[in-house]
Amino acid sequence: MRDKKVVVLTGAGVSAESGVRTFRDNDGLWEDHRVEDVATPEAWQKDPILVWRFYQARRNQLLEVDENPAHIALAKLESEVNDFTLITQNVDDLHERGGSSSVIHMHGQLRTLRCENSGQSEERLSKEDLSDEFVLCNCCSEPSRMRPDIVWFGEIPMFMEEIYAAVENCDVFIVVGSSGHVYPAAGLVQVAKANGAETILVNYEVPVNGYEFDEMYIGKAGEILPNIVEKWVGTPL
Ligand code: NAD
Repeated sequence: MRDKKVVVLTGAGVSAESGVRTFRDNDGLWEDHRVEDVATPEAWQKDPILVWRFYQARRNQLLEVDENPAHIALAKLESEVNDFTLITQNVDDLHERGGSSSVIHMHGQLRTLRCENSGQSEERLSKEDLSDEFVLCNCCSEPSRMRPDIVWFGEIPMFMEEIYAAVENCDVFIVVGSSGHVYPAAGLVQVAKANGAETILVNYEVPVNGYEFDEMYIGKAGEILPNIVEKWVGTPL
């Protein structure tokens, strides 16, 4: 593994053991909401207060949760592999807190907010930024309202050029904690496979695109990853 080009794609499952709920629980809802009501540009147009409060709750939760052994194991993998790319669909910052130094957040981040006028992002996580009140930007002469810095359904994920370049060129493509329902992230395994990469999955259940993987580890990422990373790199965590 050390001398291979390794790309890891993570999803909500990698943060589940930190107490962050995954996307679609058994009831099909995200934190008791329909996705269309809180995670689309249309929802923001129609009811910005509901959407704002939903994401403020997610942003406040960041202060209460901690990284888990899966995040730490992936940081260890990064430190032992010469060519390593970590792509996450997650909007939390638990990979960074687990020690990962370079994380591609393809669906945006909770730590930052985006000016609706200029499109510029700012890290805004102070106490006054976390209330139910809208937050105004620091970038415009007439401060504008900020929106969550999240890629909503119907919007184009970030850094796609960089992501495809890494996935097309990797030797090993590892997916952790993703249901394979959300595209284009769910299609990256096919891109990796088509370019000859070995594909590996770590997930609590077999996902809809399970047949795309050469190797599968079914169970909790926080229990499985520390052991397999140790096996791959040959040194204990
Ligand atoms: P998903 O919720 O659709 O799927 C999560 C997958 O993880 C499921 O297959 C589940 O079986 C698996 N899982 C649950 N617990 C696990 C564990 N302990 N170990 C390993 N696997 C586990 O998530 P997705 O595929 O990432 O798509 C969800 C979308 O929602 C993403 O776009 C993401 O941006 C967003 N989201 C992010 C967060 C976060 O930042 N933590 C949380 C919820 C949703």
